Amino acid sequence: MASQPTQQISGVYHRKIGDIVVTAISDGYLDGSLDVMRNVDLDRAHRILREHFRPARRTSVNAFLIHSKGRIAIVDTGSGNYLLPTAGFVQHNLAAASIDPRSIDTVLLTHMHPDHSAGLTDMSNGQRLFPNAELVMHENEPMHWFDDGAMAKADERARKLYFQAGREQVAPYKDRTRLFAGGEVFPGVTAVPSVGHTPGHTAYLVASGADQLMIWGDTVHVPEVQTAIPEAGMAFDTDLAAAAAARKRMFDRVSADGVLIAGMHLHFPSFSRLKRRGDAYELIAEPWVHAFE
Ligand SMILES: [Zn+2]
Repeated sequence: MASQPTQQISGVYHRKIGDIVVTAISDGYLDGSLDVMRNVDLDRAHRILREHFRPARRTSVNAFLIHSKGRIAIVDTGSGNYLLPTAGFVQHNLAAASIDPRSIDTVLLTHMHPDHSAGLTDMSNGQRLFPNAELVMHENEPMHWFDDGAMAKADERARKLYFQAGREQVAPYKDRTRLFAGGEVFPGVTAVPSVGHTPGHTAYLVASGADQLMIWGDTVHVPEVQTAIPEAGMAFDTDLAAAAAARKRMFDRVSADGVLIAGMHLHFPSFSRLKRRGDAYELIAEPWVHAFE
């Protein structure tokens, strides 16, 4: 009798953007409740999830490789072992994609939250998991997360999980960190600051020829709810109002242009477009293709 499969295939998916190949790498997923949502009627949020056949909040965590001009960057690094055992699979899926982490020369961070920056360093030995990479992020990120005054004002969970975790994860890259305010940060990749979720939260626009991809970072955390109610935010938005304003600007930009998007918390592999429907929006996932040439 033939045996049934017991394990999922690897979380790796390639998408070509002109001459650039972008590879979605799954870190896994995080399950949680909607109680961390803010500025939204929770009954309505629960109803929206149910209408999408989702009994609870399930958050994909994604990272993206960018293969451009003979170089490789990774956008975000997943959650390492800081969060839940259902996440932390970036290294596993890089191996499945036959990518040696030593060949990655640039780590672009969207921001210093543990589901993005906690895959930088192996804390059991203090070694960089991307030993040859330059760490690149918006100048406001370390300015905020290394600010002792801001840390003192945070609650205990945020102090540990955001400030301390961020500091210990980026520390081994101290002499190889490049900070930006905007502009081109890697061949074919432009930083698009979209601040509010954190003070330096940044999207990355990948462009080659006529093709574009907006890797929009944490524009949404609960895609079903926040596309329906764009003002809905999260307890861990540093500035709830600024995050909502940034989300609406991003929604307007990508829906007006029909630009392809990818996101750290869109369901893997996340390549989608956003359609405006009155005051709300709808995510339309791009079909999977075998041949990406
Ligand atoms: Zn996140």
